[in-house]
Amino acid sequence: MELKEVKGLGPKTINTLNKIGINNTYDLLTYYPYRYKIFNITNIDEANDEEVVVRGLVNSIVKVNYIKRNFNRLSFTALINNKLIKVAIFNRAFLKNNLTINKVINLIGKYNKLTNTFMASNITFDLFDDYKIEPVYHLVEGLKNKIIINTINYLLKENILVDDYIPSYLNTLYHFIDKNKALKYIHEPQDLEEVKKAKLKLIYEELFIFMFKINYLKHKNYLSTKSIKKTVNLDKLNDLINNLPFKLTNDQLKALDDIKSDFASDKRMNRLLLGDVGSGKTIVAVIASYLNYLNGFQTSLMAPTEILATQHYYSIKKTLKDTNMVIELLTGSMSKKEQNNIKERLDNGEIDLLIGTHAIISNNVKFKNLGLVITDEQHRFGVNQRSYLQSKGELPDIIYMSATPIPRTYALTLYGDMDISIIKEKPVGRKDIITYIKKNSEIKDVLQMMVEEIKANHQIYVVAPLIEENETLDLSDTNKLKEKLDIAFNHKIPIGILHGRLKNNEKEAIMNDFKNNIIKVLISTTVIEVGIDVSNATMMVIFNAERFGLATLHQLRGRVGRSNLDSKCILISDSDNERLKVLVESNDGFYISEMDFKIRGEGDLFGVRQSGDMTFKIADLRRDFKILLKAKEDVETFINNENLTNYPLYQDIVNHLDSLN
Ligand code: ADP
Ligand code: MG
Repeated sequence: MELKEVKGLGPKTINTLNKIGINNTYDLLTYYPYRYKIFNITNIDEANDEEVVVRGLVNSIVKVNYIKRNFNRLSFTALINNKLIKVAIFNRAFLKNNLTINKVINLIGKYNKLTNTFMASNITFDLFDDYKIEPVYHLVEGLKNKIIINTINYLLKENILVDDYIPSYLNTLYHFIDKNKALKYIHEPQDLEEVKKAKLKLIYEELFIFMFKINYLKHKNYLSTKSIKKTVNLDKLNDLINNLPFKLTNDQLKALDDIKSDFASDKRMNRLLLGDVGSGKTIVAVIASYLNYLNGFQTSLMAPTEILATQHYYSIKKTLKDTNMVIELLTGSMSKKEQNNIKERLDNGEIDLLIGTHAIISNNVKFKNLGLVITDEQHRFGVNQRSYLQSKGELPDIIYMSATPIPRTYALTLYGDMDISIIKEKPVGRKDIITYIKKNSEIKDVLQMMVEEIKANHQIYVVAPLIEENETLDLSDTNKLKEKLDIAFNHKIPIGILHGRLKNNEKEAIMNDFKNNIIKVLISTTVIEVGIDVSNATMMVIFNAERFGLATLHQLRGRVGRSNLDSKCILISDSDNERLKVLVESNDGFYISEMDFKIRGEGDLFGVRQSGDMTFKIADLRRDFKILLKAKEDVETFINNENLTNYPLYQDIVNHLDSLN
């Protein structure tokens, strides 16, 4: 059913709903409340200092005092549990005509026994029984909780048929309630017991769907396993490796061995390079692209942002300068003419390695013979994009690179459709980043340290404070911070600001100035690219450190310590220092993420949540990890034993994959 067929939904509201990704009634039915308000009617004698809901009758004429413009006070007496009580409420003059004598009302607010006054914060008229649960939804401007409640109520009454994605034998096995009932319970529960039952069902279902998608890809990969065998020219490979300005670490060599044997087998490579920031994943992938080139195939390398893609382009060109590989960059901000030129040369096979952003996966980019696809910071790409890419070449091999340091079990589950090579070892000579925790009151020390660093001709990243979790950026805040720093440094130190709202060329200009040591201090939010590589930057200052997960902080600080210079990271925080101490004690991303899981009982799967297909409506990967493992197991059995064509999701996925080819 379409939204516009829903009674009472106007085009304006539909527009707002579309903006938050609700495009049809199923989306709306699965827009779950994030909490519930419980109204429990209390006897006024039991009211203490806390907010309560009481019910009574209007007992007097209502008086309105207009105190000033836009400020009024309404008062009357009410009969509540057989007592006459004075009631007052501010700014509800408009209720006056509704509050007729003997009208039954619910009063929400606080009762003061001494003065026998009930100070109400709200008055409502619905006559629910003594107990009512109201769902609370995430709202945006132009969307009221009441609208969602009413619309969903209408939809539930219409009894629209919804697919249950859990196979019926599993529904029976786990005694899950019916899908329609679950929707009813989650949106209109009579009690919290119903919420619990609904959640169990819906969380499992969501994780089942998620694991199904992943396993289906794996399954399909397995079926289409025939890939072109590639030979590995060891002489040329060793030439390249021996001419690198550094020695590869053992883990890099091991990852390279994995890739070599993938190439040599007729199995299609589908490999995740998982390695801490700075562990040197790129060079491994670049060497793979060289091997691919020696076999006569093209490679594409995608990065999540233009800055990263551009940076890769220049550094990879340097690395591969002694080969004859033709390397080009393709980004959305290039002129149409430049883009077309590159597309043409790509199509006729002149280009051997194409580096770019998502623009690479736009429809009109054609490769002559794509043999290898590399995506950097893999977590930014969703399953959909992954399968799209796979459909781009005949049967290209695939390498994903991710710096998300997640515990191995998680990795195996979330990336269940891939083989994994883990790079743990850091390049030799790399020093640990010395980390300090400072209070806001100690900011003078921090400024002093910054001055020292700049005197040594080094550079500094500053991560600006966050207003709210997930908030991309508040401009005034970075600007304010810059002003403060300018004053502190007497306007003598060039400071730049990098934020998401800048145009690409502006961003690039600032990044270039930072790279060239013209800008000494770079203020940014976390939006700034994880993989940026400026080895002269030796200090990072992170405000509101307590707001971040440890893994995120670790990734952020990974932008310093990229050379043999001593580097430091200052975490500014007035709270939660116990947790932050883990960062002072360790520089091992995998250990840190394990600790984060232990301490918070959850972690912070940096990026995992950011990618399109890993945002969940009701499941929480960490809280529901056990359910995820169950779902994974169940999906595997299901995929191996069942006739999938009857599964509702199956056709969706197949259609989706087909539409890409
Ligand atoms: P990440 O794994 O975070 O993507 P990069 O691939 O960007 O890390 O590597 C970080 C830096 O380390 C780069 O400047 C790279 O040239 C350098 N590097 C990579 N491998 C080694 C090595 N074995 N020894 C020394 N430096 C290395
Ligand atoms: Mg990288």
